[in-house]
Amino acid sequence: MTQYVYFFGNGQADGHGGMKNLLGGKGANLAEMTRLGLPVPAGFTISTEACVAYFKGGGHPDGLQEQVSEALTKLEEAMGREFGHETTPLLVSVRSGARVSMPGMMDTVLNLGLNSDNVGGLSVASNDERFAWDSYRRFIQMYSNVVLGVDHGHFEHALDALKKSRGVDVDTALIAADLRGLVDTYKGIVVDATGSAFAADPRAQMWGAINAVFDSWNNERAVTYRKMEGISGDWGTAVTVQAMVFGNMGDNCATGVAFTRDPSTGERRFFGEYLCNAQGEDVVAGIRTPLSINGDASDTLENVMPEVYGQLDVLRHRLEDHYKDMQDIEFTVEKGRLWMLQTRTGKRTAAAAQRIAVEMVGEGFIDRRTAVLRVAPEQIRALLHPRLDPEAPKNIVAKGLGASPGAASGQLVFDAATAVEWVENGKSVILMRPETSPEDIAGMAAAEGIVTARGGATSHAAVVARGMGKTCVAGCAALMIDEMNRTVKIGDVVLKEGDVVTIEGAEGWVIQGAVATIDPELGDDFQTMMEWADQYRRLKVRTNADTPGDSEVARGFGAEGIGLCRTEHMFFEGERITAVREMILSETVAQRRIALAKLLPMQKGDFEGIFRAMKGLPVTIRLLDPPLHEFLPGHGDDVSSLAATMGVTVHELNGRIEMLRELNPMLGHRGCRLAITYPEIYEMQVEAIVGAACTLVRDEGFSLVPEIMIPLVSVAKELSILEALVRETADKVIADHGVHLDYLVGTMIEFPRACLTANEVAPHADFFSFGTNDLTQTTFGLSRDDSGKFLPEYIDRGILPNDPFGSMDKGVAELVKIACDRGRSVKPDLKLGICGEHGGDPASVTICHQIGLDYVSCSPYRVPVARMAAAHAALAEE
Ligand code: PEP
Ligand code: MG
Repeated sequence: MTQYVYFFGNGQADGHGGMKNLLGGKGANLAEMTRLGLPVPAGFTISTEACVAYFKGGGHPDGLQEQVSEALTKLEEAMGREFGHETTPLLVSVRSGARVSMPGMMDTVLNLGLNSDNVGGLSVASNDERFAWDSYRRFIQMYSNVVLGVDHGHFEHALDALKKSRGVDVDTALIAADLRGLVDTYKGIVVDATGSAFAADPRAQMWGAINAVFDSWNNERAVTYRKMEGISGDWGTAVTVQAMVFGNMGDNCATGVAFTRDPSTGERRFFGEYLCNAQGEDVVAGIRTPLSINGDASDTLENVMPEVYGQLDVLRHRLEDHYKDMQDIEFTVEKGRLWMLQTRTGKRTAAAAQRIAVEMVGEGFIDRRTAVLRVAPEQIRALLHPRLDPEAPKNIVAKGLGASPGAASGQLVFDAATAVEWVENGKSVILMRPETSPEDIAGMAAAEGIVTARGGATSHAAVVARGMGKTCVAGCAALMIDEMNRTVKIGDVVLKEGDVVTIEGAEGWVIQGAVATIDPELGDDFQTMMEWADQYRRLKVRTNADTPGDSEVARGFGAEGIGLCRTEHMFFEGERITAVREMILSETVAQRRIALAKLLPMQKGDFEGIFRAMKGLPVTIRLLDPPLHEFLPGHGDDVSSLAATMGVTVHELNGRIEMLRELNPMLGHRGCRLAITYPEIYEMQVEAIVGAACTLVRDEGFSLVPEIMIPLVSVAKELSILEALVRETADKVIADHGVHLDYLVGTMIEFPRACLTANEVAPHADFFSFGTNDLTQTTFGLSRDDSGKFLPEYIDRGILPNDPFGSMDKGVAELVKIACDRGRSVKPDLKLGICGEHGGDPASVTICHQIGLDYVSCSPYRVPVARMAAAHAALAEE
């Protein structure tokens, strides 16, 4: 016969802490605390297996009722009271408990076992008539709501009417006789609502509550929560039936919650709150303001009940010794006697997680491996950015995609030029755009944060903001931006240029007004934790950086090289855009070469700066990638002055601009296709890269191996042509400098065709770097710049588990794997990395580890996140 019921009490328990799957977190920990000899009110837990069988078979599985009866008898013996007894009634709580905590999602019934025959007995036993009637009326309300589905409102209404008729404001001012009358009113409500009298038989009450808890596994709240948290609907909930202890029987009673360490900072100090003469629900519901258990005030538990506090402090240490982790406990003091009602692993902030893990290694509780596993990669991310003060009030006016975490406040501006100008005048700004493009870079760099109405997790705004470590909210569809009038309408709210807003880039909030933020502190604990993580990871972690400044930040965060340097961003700096436009709009090769010659020294300077910042670490530089029209003059630009510079008429120039426009530029003349048509562009870039490297080697004694990367290859022949071009150019530059320099030529893999024919591509490449932004776009046939409009609905409706531009899709992962296998089949030492946005996403890093890539590359502020994720991925394999 299957055992469905597990008893605990009097120092013995059928279950133990390792049985969370069967007994739920709560049941398992109550059993464990009982075994440890802690003062736990006796009880029993009905297993999740019984719940699963209940749903499958449509009723109680065989043996459940008998086992519950037996356990109830043991419970009565342990507590010295009898269920339903007229003078010494045993009251119980009936609570849910899944294997993972689902706070507040399922149902609970307290004070079960009371009826009109034994309420008098409780009154005598507690020596408190008011307490007895108050317990009874609370029970009727809770039971009727949870088990019978009677609306809370009916009871609240009756209570309010009673208070009014007595001329009192608070429940506690009602006397026993009032509450006795209220019980009758409540019973009448139940008859009216259900057509039957309120159950008097405690056993019938108990089964009603047990079934209701089982059923609450499938209530709407719980189902939604499970979906959000990825919890399986097949697990079922356990049900714990436990003797009630009362924290509301007078001033020598109390109830509280405490953490064995400070859950905000991680400091090793006992931290908690309590209320005298109250039920646990009063603390949770926040009806009365709880008091601190310790500290300077005179009304602390330590001062008011020193003996109890002393006992609790001893238990705090015993629990930590036993669980080797910070615990979150619930306790009740009944007439001066301490009872433990719950212990579980305490939730904590990122800062606390890190500090507790490091200190617990020092205290000998855990080893380094465990410490690393206790800090989630996502928590590392939270440590690196300023965050909103959780206590500060916030008026959230819109929600978009949390594209780059952090929090920032500033005055609203609607264009990049104004952003730059205002910042030069000492203001802080938030740049709000319909979407951003490379032209906005300077404004983005100047702004504290960026908000866009369109675009997803790999939109220009998102990628660039993450690279800069700026807070960004993207794809915020509720923003109706009026660029002409410099206003934005969000629902009923209209904000204008100069109004202060705050954005939160993890949740995707746009908030009206300023909200206080808290700066990150990366102390010794952070460094220690990251060093430990590095001991376990196999994947190398590089960064995506385009400037010496970003490169330095990334190196500070532990980047082991640059995995992607996007050269196009450099084309917008200062005066060079004019030369870039001349180059693009040239009609002949000779004209183009003249323009390129102007760019060459600037590009060379760029690369020298980056090589210097990376101090000899590997640097992968990608040759020009975006469609040329991105660099063309826009509406506000002066076409006539450009025409004059180029010696052509405005009419001619406009004709050329028009010619370059494409209907679908993302799939058009871009990447290596540009270089097939205009090889001189790549020639100039290679000259600049290799020239910069040679200069540093020759003049400054550097040792470095530049990695030159060709984007958007889909056909091996494209790469073979361009590889030859790159090598020829590079070798010539090296010979001209008279130095020895090794360099690598590799390709990005961004199209399914390149993945599937990787065995043909690999002979021409020293390395593959997966550009999973474009690979996601082309695998799904889904525009990375437009998906923000409809992807949220796909995710809401479960059509996709998450945004494939943020976290690697399994189809894309399969293509990456195929490309790795086919590439290595012809070139076993082929170096493999990823430089799409996925390189900084923990779940995607795990996939990269499993596929066997050599490195991931991500924006500077995600480097520590990736280091931690890579360590977790390696440890999960052990
Ligand atoms: C990619 O496509 O994944 C990539 C890194 O290139 P980009 O985002 O610049 O297109
Ligand atoms: Mg790309």
